[in-house]
Amino acid sequence: MDSTSIDATCYTAAVNDRYSRQILFDGIGPKGQDRLLHSRVLIIGCGALGSAQAESLARAGVGDLRIVDRDFVESSNLQRQTMFTESDARERLPKTIAAANHIKQINSEINVEPIVVDVNHSNIERLIEECAVVLDGTDNFSTRYLINDACVKHNVSWIYGAAVGSYGVTMTVRPHQTACLRCLFEEAPDAASAPTCDTAGVIMPIINVVAAVQIAEALKLLTSNTVDLHCSLMQFDVWRNDWRKIKADSPRTDCPSCGLGLFESLAPESNEGAAVLCGRDAVQILPSRPTSVNFESLAARLAGSGAVKFNDYLLRFQTGKFELTVFHDARSIIRGTDEIALARSLYAKYIGN
Ligand SMILES: [Zn+2]
Repeated sequence: MDSTSIDATCYTAAVNDRYSRQILFDGIGPKGQDRLLHSRVLIIGCGALGSAQAESLARAGVGDLRIVDRDFVESSNLQRQTMFTESDARERLPKTIAAANHIKQINSEINVEPIVVDVNHSNIERLIEECAVVLDGTDNFSTRYLINDACVKHNVSWIYGAAVGSYGVTMTVRPHQTACLRCLFEEAPDAASAPTCDTAGVIMPIINVVAAVQIAEALKLLTSNTVDLHCSLMQFDVWRNDWRKIKADSPRTDCPSCGLGLFESLAPESNEGAAVLCGRDAVQILPSRPTSVNFESLAARLAGSGAVKFNDYLLRFQTGKFELTVFHDARSIIRGTDEIALARSLYAKYIGN
């Protein structure tokens, strides 16, 4: 036996040992493990849910992980975003780069493709190319509708997930076989109408629950165990001990996305909602559709996150070096940056859409 074949034998043994407990599990087995090693998964948003998804799938041996995020690591992330360390926050590393660094230490046998970008209509279809499954780790509905429309159009399964406070929700979308996000919620909630993690907070256990269900569903899809998918909208509240399952196994024939094939969010007009205001170190963000903001309740939600004042015409919210001015129609001017991606991120965090 020459040295190359000894190395090859050791390598195989090491790989088998790494995944041995998972291969012993009936649902996966050697064939399933091989499928995982030859799969590419896209994770959009590498915050709390994305951290848990990326770590689990890297440990499970998914061969290619593409991770997309527009944000940097901050110290307020460390309480629940398990992929990051104090040093990542000090260096303000982009989340995908920090995640890729850590994943290389967790599993050096797989490929990680970190992409620092603001997901929009112009890049979503390219991002999902050659991906077997897309996992939702985002914090806003605009991106989720983009994911939904692109995945339905290109027949890629995706797994919706969201968490705020102690409440979370998840659903697996298999285009044309199960309901899609628009079958259930044709429109996103109004801008500035719902709590976000940056206004209402979030606790780690609900992240773990939502991410665990998303990861299990991804493993079932990747190993062709579709019969075991939960086929529902699952809702959990780990504080109030409320667990619900709403059946969502049939697509709606009049659904704009999977029924009628309209894919509104993929149209270029859908991206006109952001513009840099020349010479003002500010970006204007428009809501995805008309709405009317109640300043009193928005001010109450924002009160714990920074200084907030409002009059009959506008609401001003200061957080760190950024100032958000919100008008009644949810149009907002974000001062302190001329980067659209950063402005969108602040809008999603504090106004919410
Ligand atoms: Zn649909």
